[in-house]
Amino acid sequence: MVSESCGNPSVESEAIMTRRPKHDKSKICIKCKVNTGAIVIRHAVYCKECFPALLNSKIRRILEPHINAKPELSRKKSLKASGNLLVAFSGGLGSTVLLDLISRIYLSPWTEEEVEGNLKGGKDHPRNQPVWKSVSICYVEIASGFPGMTDKTMKIQQILREKYKTLEFISLRLEDAFDMSWWDKVGGKAALDANADLTNDELFISSTLTTPTLNPVERLRSYISALPTHTAIENAIHTLIRVLLLYTARSTQSSHLLLGTSLTSLSIRLISSISQGGGFSVWEEAYEEWKPDSTTAIRVIRPLQEVTTKECSMWAWWNGLLVVGQEKYPRAKEGIYALTKDFIIGLERDYPSTVSTIARTCSKLAPKVEAVGLCIFCERPLQPGVQLWKSRISLRETGQPTTASRSSDSSPVLQSLTPYLCYSCHTMLTSRNSKGVSGNPASPSLPLPVWASIHPRGLSDDVGRSGMQPDLNGNEELWLRRKIDPDEMKVVIGDFLLE
Ligand SMILES: [Zn+2]
Ligand SMILES: [Zn+2]
Repeated sequence: MVSESCGNPSVESEAIMTRRPKHDKSKICIKCKVNTGAIVIRHAVYCKECFPALLNSKIRRILEPHINAKPELSRKKSLKASGNLLVAFSGGLGSTVLLDLISRIYLSPWTEEEVEGNLKGGKDHPRNQPVWKSVSICYVEIASGFPGMTDKTMKIQQILREKYKTLEFISLRLEDAFDMSWWDKVGGKAALDANADLTNDELFISSTLTTPTLNPVERLRSYISALPTHTAIENAIHTLIRVLLLYTARSTQSSHLLLGTSLTSLSIRLISSISQGGGFSVWEEAYEEWKPDSTTAIRVIRPLQEVTTKECSMWAWWNGLLVVGQEKYPRAKEGIYALTKDFIIGLERDYPSTVSTIARTCSKLAPKVEAVGLCIFCERPLQPGVQLWKSRISLRETGQPTTASRSSDSSPVLQSLTPYLCYSCHTMLTSRNSKGVSGNPASPSLPLPVWASIHPRGLSDDVGRSGMQPDLNGNEELWLRRKIDPDEMKVVIGDFLLE
């Protein structure tokens, strides 16, 4: 049978691309089945009264299995964390909503009524004790990294102190990542300022003792201007903030660090991270347990990871929450993250299951091999064999080391940073952009964050010295970059060409 539309591609494609209705059946709330709905979440309708219970259950489902040190105890016994709580606050919608909900669910002081009658077992029963001994909010200001940006620390501090009087406010700055006095304060191991040489993929480290010393803001700016692409800058800032928060959590004896990442932001972060070579740590985007040493274990949880931006907006609107907003640094829109964001948000508008499908699919992925330590830059699991993999996808040559990448007899042996970096961080530092970020060739010397300046841990001392690495047969060989002419290239890759 031939239908009328056959042969008319425009009619056919229209039929395929018809938008689904915003809600499935009726406009009545699917929970109470009485009220008229006020918000549609993935085709399901909820009323204003049932919406808080929905958010409440989503947050508790994500967070509570991870509160007690031993997860199996969480359901039956009372919730009791082994340390304090640190909530990260960016000023954006997600963290504003997160802080509000966490304080309503876990931190609201008991009312007289509750204390007198409604608390099962009374106020002193462990069930009715606070889950965390102390709770702090941490804000990281990035303004010093970019001339002309507004510093919002004072404004945010004022708003938070007014609203959350009992919580401690910790203010950090992005340049703390290059500040030895901050590093001392959070209990970091002794370290010296160091730089990495970006002209070589081995990223040789040099101490800055011989060069003029820069202050932390100058080091931060020099770090940003040395990065090769806008994507690298976005990724680097995100990583610096994350690691600053991790060390702050450790110094405040926190067992939990909460981030205000919504389902929408999580999906964007997943796709953007995978596209930049972060596939090995795809799990850590949703949940991570950071163990930098034998005595520290901090759980990084994103309790809003099942709540979309739309739900966050409705919550903020209905509860009159003040969202300060995050200022974008110049040209942030040119990176992969911003492009991914535009794409996914555009898709979500017509297909409201997009972000949950991305998050659910990624949660089923797992790396094939065990990690061999932590990346010295991002503190995430380090996958084995990064260099071997990179060597297979690039041209290399064996033979005598050249002066370009070998230390001469008189100078000290150079140490390479590369073996201590995950694939994603190495790609971030070595990605090439013919124009450079500002149109000029990028500065070749990259100041290292304080945590990366210390002696690499968990790896053999011999790995990564002067660009020499054992190959598969245990022989040492040297890799170098050079330009070769088309004929020579044809000989090298001849076996792989299809006739
Ligand atoms: Zn309802
Ligand atoms: Zn890394």
